[in-house]
Amino acid sequence: MLQPYASHPEHSRGRRYAEAPAPTRDDYQRDRDRIVHSTAFRRLVYKTQVFLNHEGDLFRTRLTHSLEVAQLGRSIARELGLNEDLVEAIALAHDLGHTPFGHAGQDALNDCARRADPGGNGFEHNLQSLRVVDELEERYPDFDGLNLTFETREGILKHCSRRNAERLCAAEPGGVAQRFLDGTRPGIEAQLCNLADEIAYNAHDIDDGVRSGLLTLQRLDDIPLFASFSRAARADHPGLGGRRLLFESVRRMLSQQVYDVIAATREALQERRPRSASDARTMPALVCFSDGMQQRGAELKKFLHENLYRHPQVVDTTQRAKEAIRELFDAYVAQPSEMPAAFANQTDQVQAVADYIAGMTDRFALKEHQRLTGRNLF
Ligand code: MG
Repeated sequence: MLQPYASHPEHSRGRRYAEAPAPTRDDYQRDRDRIVHSTAFRRLVYKTQVFLNHEGDLFRTRLTHSLEVAQLGRSIARELGLNEDLVEAIALAHDLGHTPFGHAGQDALNDCARRADPGGNGFEHNLQSLRVVDELEERYPDFDGLNLTFETREGILKHCSRRNAERLCAAEPGGVAQRFLDGTRPGIEAQLCNLADEIAYNAHDIDDGVRSGLLTLQRLDDIPLFASFSRAARADHPGLGGRRLLFESVRRMLSQQVYDVIAATREALQERRPRSASDARTMPALVCFSDGMQQRGAELKKFLHENLYRHPQVVDTTQRAKEAIRELFDAYVAQPSEMPAAFANQTDQVQAVADYIAGMTDRFALKEHQRLTGRNLF
């Protein structure tokens, strides 16, 4: 039931290294399976989303976040006649390049890489996700990486600085980074994954925020979007409170955002009428929220920034995480032989140290930090 503007595996721009087709799976299904079996995917279970991995067993990790993005993305894709398997592949891979300790880790690693090599690439997690699937996974006899299709790789490279886009295009002319130079959009399934990512983290950060005690149900009523669903839930279930009220409100909020994306995207498709997947790439973003939902989503994000991501307790953890990354980086640059040989023997030392640190889980990074500095930051 794929629509003409969906990505059809038989029209894929293919893989970087030619391979015979699989007998029972199409190319996007095969991409998804390669991602699930990769080493980087298994590491996601011990990587921070917002709360550090050791802070509690029930908080989201990069793995459970990625599964939620895939679930939301597939639901929407099915309804719109888009390619569910491609959505799933992109969603499961979209965070593979994340460092330990969430955004704090990424910012610290970027600062370190720029300081050590001012003319270099710095560190961008989207670019690193592509690096993981293109270069760093070692699973095949004939090539590095997972050799995924163009469409999955394009979705994984969600953002990219102009400088890095130029560098990628020099190595792969007209490839997955070309759109950052041309100002075009990625395929419609990649567009969908970006919104599914947003819907997922806005909802689960509310849930994790309350679980951690940093947010309260009363405070959440300051978010107009959340408050409307919590009011409706209480009207339907008088006396409902506590976790069940939280879950019911979040559930309604998630559903409403999904319905909103479906309706707004249908409208955009009606208006623009893309005839093919490549046609869709040249148009303004087709997968979208309604203006009203966009606005309410922005308020929700602002609330989470002010009250959760910048909460003194989160900021304190963030500072320590950054310190751990900086000290690990300096230790490996000073003494590359502290890294496994595959990294220590690379010619581009800054890139090798960044690759090694980015691949670490939270707990491995802390263990290494303690081994190299003798200090325990947490
Ligand atoms: Mg994400």
